[in-house]
Amino acid sequence: MKISTVEDERVHVLNNNSNVWSIIRDIVDTGTQEDAFYICDIGDIVQKHKIWKSAFPRVQPHYAVKCNDSLTVIEVLAALGTSFDCASKGEINKVLEIGVDPNRIIFANPAKPISHIRHAADVGVNTMTFDNEVELHKVKNLFPDAKMVIRIRCDAKVSQCPLGMKFGCNAETEAPHLLRVASELGLDVVGVSFHVGSGCGEPDVFRKAIALSRQIFDYAESLGYRFNLLDLGGGYPGDHSNSIFEIAEIINCALEDYFPDPSVHVIAEPGRFYVSSAYTLACNVHSIRGVATKDPVTEAPSTHYMYYINDGVYGSFNCVLYDHQHVVGLPLKEYPHSKLHSSSIWGPTCDGLDQVVEETLLPELHVGDWLIFENMGAYTLPVASPFNGFPVPKVHVVANEDIWMLLKDILPLTEDHFVIGTTPASLVKNMNVDRETDWVLPDLPITITLP
Ligand code: PLP
Repeated sequence: MKISTVEDERVHVLNNNSNVWSIIRDIVDTGTQEDAFYICDIGDIVQKHKIWKSAFPRVQPHYAVKCNDSLTVIEVLAALGTSFDCASKGEINKVLEIGVDPNRIIFANPAKPISHIRHAADVGVNTMTFDNEVELHKVKNLFPDAKMVIRIRCDAKVSQCPLGMKFGCNAETEAPHLLRVASELGLDVVGVSFHVGSGCGEPDVFRKAIALSRQIFDYAESLGYRFNLLDLGGGYPGDHSNSIFEIAEIINCALEDYFPDPSVHVIAEPGRFYVSSAYTLACNVHSIRGVATKDPVTEAPSTHYMYYINDGVYGSFNCVLYDHQHVVGLPLKEYPHSKLHSSSIWGPTCDGLDQVVEETLLPELHVGDWLIFENMGAYTLPVASPFNGFPVPKVHVVANEDIWMLLKDILPLTEDHFVIGTTPASLVKNMNVDRETDWVLPDLPITITLP
């Protein structure tokens, strides 16, 4: 198994009494941990898959690799039976390398570089999306047997990351023309896809998008096509909120109303849903600045606390800028009955933009305290950089005994990949090995030449 540099290559099996917070506490209590670190709980991913299967019995999930391309995540999901949405040649290779059949991949990027289309043809990834005429001509030249899926636009009124301004043709004014061009080129168009926006805040939009898809299916039939694929895209929540069930009810009813024929294969491209809550980030408070201010209500003198932590917007918290996430820092230590103070949280770099939380209420923290950020698995690590020399946090992958029993037989991993009897101290030692070697300076004589 190949593993990214931020990820420990093994799954640490912990006893059933542990939970993510107790693991973090144990690691911190060793007293030797300073760098920020993640805990990735595989059990959470397995639980999400169970939720998906029960909420959407008719919809085959194609995990959107872009969201978090950790090999552990991909392997666990492949073992559980999901398929994959890849946006590029690189993502396709990553999924194929672990032995996934190319038929389980949709190349869901309507604007694909030429070499990536060629690569898809070479490796047998046949299904791909389009939303413009130029793409049809490219595919005609490079991969004329591809199975094409037209992506239409149908935006949620509220979403964390709208996508419609970049992708998706208008279902009424553009799609019929594109389908006529595809038909003239002799291309095999097999279905419709849409993406209502990542972090969708308007569940009803799925009904609207499914109704629009029905219209496209019917129009395509008039051209002689027999579509058999409906792709519901992404937009599902990543935390443990119940809104997934609200969305599921709307989707399942709309499918019954508009696509009662069970021969239509329905898929979706959830990314955030599968990984967000599986990752918890622990950051260390390394500096504090108290700024004199006034209480906004009483006008009495008070202090605003600026907390500097060892991960910021150039690292994991790039999600604050790019993914419009509102992150919440929770103190690891308990501060019962403590007064709460106006506070802000800042990343470690020298850039003024590096602000993680603008305004929040926290008890008075101390240097060495830890802040915990939950739901940090989506659109964080794939984008993070070690700007200013602050390393991207390492990930400890953990599973409890029950999950290990379930996975050890279905994952393409040998037992060596599981570490049983992990202790917090061994986790910390394992995590810091690279760091120590990285930072040992070679013992060379230094000669300074004066001008
Ligand atoms: N499919 C496509 C084509 C996407 O562009 C994205 C996200 O940008 C996804 C799926 C994943 O959607 P989500 O972030 O809502 O899980």
